[in-house]
Amino acid sequence: MTTPTPTQTLHDVSCADDYDPNSMPVDKARELIARFLTPLAATERVHVRSALNRILAQDVISPINVPANDNSAMDGYALRFADLKADGEVTLNIAGSSFAGKPYGAPVKPGEAVRIMTGGVMPPEADTIVMQEHTKAAHGKVTIGSGHRQHQNLRRAGEDLAVGQVALRKGLPLRPAEIGLAASLGIGEVTVYRRLRVAFFSTGDELVSIGSVPGEGQIFDSNRYTIHGMLTRMGFDAIDMGVIRDEPALIEAAFAQAAACADVVITSGGVSVGEADFIKDMLNKLGEVLFWKIAMKPGRPLAYGKIGDAHFFGLPGNPVSVMVTFYQFVRDALLTLAGQNPVPPLPTFKVPCISALKKAPGRTEFQRGILSRDANGAWSVKVTGEQGSGILRSMSEANCFIILPTDQGNVAPGAMVQVQVMEGVV
Ligand code: AMP
Ligand code: MG
Repeated sequence: MTTPTPTQTLHDVSCADDYDPNSMPVDKARELIARFLTPLAATERVHVRSALNRILAQDVISPINVPANDNSAMDGYALRFADLKADGEVTLNIAGSSFAGKPYGAPVKPGEAVRIMTGGVMPPEADTIVMQEHTKAAHGKVTIGSGHRQHQNLRRAGEDLAVGQVALRKGLPLRPAEIGLAASLGIGEVTVYRRLRVAFFSTGDELVSIGSVPGEGQIFDSNRYTIHGMLTRMGFDAIDMGVIRDEPALIEAAFAQAAACADVVITSGGVSVGEADFIKDMLNKLGEVLFWKIAMKPGRPLAYGKIGDAHFFGLPGNPVSVMVTFYQFVRDALLTLAGQNPVPPLPTFKVPCISALKKAPGRTEFQRGILSRDANGAWSVKVTGEQGSGILRSMSEANCFIILPTDQGNVAPGAMVQVQVMEGVV
């Protein structure tokens, strides 16, 4: 095994003993890519309302205690524990009330109780709350039995979060919960990383964009549209550079332009055998790029490298392969570059598969699955129809990948399989 070091170059990687670009396991490719990912440094201040899906670049420190005051966890009576009897009842005068937003204010004197509602501020000198159900109130007095503990039903100021504590950590993506939490602390602005800029283009003489009429043998470009959707959904700046014809000079110009304006360049098509050679030479002139055949289906050809300071992902041309490789390699890498830390793995778990699955050992397969729940509440998965890497409908029908590991062969109906939920990217 090679030991990852921060100074390692792509060239060092390709010279390592266990490096075989023609049979690259999925995990190994992921791990190699991860060695070269340095998060963005640039940050900006944004209002919390505009911060959804952005990534926090600075810890948010709580300027206040949460809760702000000692307060009641129950509807009941606030009193002095010393007034209660270990055995037998005691009757106290109801001196007033403390409701949420309307505190009692004065100290509670011996022999007194204050009616208190959930969230009501604990009056000074009181130290215990007796819940309403354990009391009898009549004519301005309340009678309370034995068996209570001092400080019961009391929520302490700062119990959830104390002044000066980290409320939200740097590296966290901001979801509605984090935005609400910042607002609950009275924080209106947060420091986030600037948006990751991702330029992308399609390559292929056969491709036309929507709005044009395909000529003989031409097809509509779909990859640029799925890539645009995936990037936008993740909150990145998606820079669409169009379709580039299979002409070395045009492709070279497109690469140079993309790398100059973006943090990441993504292409689809043109990295399969045959086409790879001229692209290989060109990219190695512009930067340093590794070309792999991943032991996976779909999505075998994949290129990764650097062009100038930009990271480059060369995805296969087939529409399903594009989405699978984006999901399995590009997603995590982009989140890391964008500053997210940690990047948790997508939820993966085992369920029974009700379909028979065809699978040859020797590669990891990402079949498209539909997870559903039966009338008894039990979950299972079935495969979408045809699994060809050009059939984008399989991605549209699916809500998960069925991940079949390298050594796995055919799967009989009813066997347990691993599924990965497609969330937020597809
Ligand atoms: P390639 O990797 O360029 O050989 O492409 C593999 C297959 O994917 C071919 O059938 C291409 O026509 C198809 N393909 C490549 N790029 C796109 C695209 N942007 N949209 C739809 N299909 C594509
Ligand atoms: Mg092509």
